[in-house]
Amino acid sequence: MMLSVKEIDTRLEAILDNSEIGLSSEAGDMIVELQNDLRPHKPENRQGMLCASCGNENVLRDAWVDWCSESQDWVLGQVFDDAYCGVCDASVKVASYDLDKPLQLEAFAMASDGVGGFTLIEDYDQTPEFYDISLMQRIEATGEIVGLVELDNLTREEMERRFADLEERFPDANSEKHMREN
Ligand SMILES: [Zn+2]
Repeated sequence: MMLSVKEIDTRLEAILDNSEIGLSSEAGDMIVELQNDLRPHKPENRQGMLCASCGNENVLRDAWVDWCSESQDWVLGQVFDDAYCGVCDASVKVASYDLDKPLQLEAFAMASDGVGGFTLIEDYDQTPEFYDISLMQRIEATGEIVGLVELDNLTREEMERRFADLEERFPDANSEKHMREN
């Protein structure tokens, strides 16, 4: 395939946009040096992607494809932040997680804290007002816990249904309900 330096420059910029590789103005001269590094930056571990609103993996990202005369096909160009979830049928945020590390699925019963906010149920006398679900993953290197999906303000029934749904979808997750019930 014959490309002008300008075309190479444009294509490189599209490829490098999502990577950590910079591009100087002498792009044409750098092709040989860069050719092993042209893949967009990929994390070391296998990643999963899911909808941050519902936890479903049926998510699509907006992207541009470029026509490639050589392969006679559209090839992936730029990928944008905007995403669509087929289950929510809405624009959503995408959460990425490490496929090879365990997920943590937790449900919490919530009650008024007496000063206008809400708190986890702390004793057996309190009546839950609503329930929250969190799907999380701990980043081993930093110990930080990253929230992937946050479902708030659920009724008991909704919580049970969505918790069971997430448990079924992520059977390896460590799941726990903090209901403080006898
Ligand atoms: Zn969704």
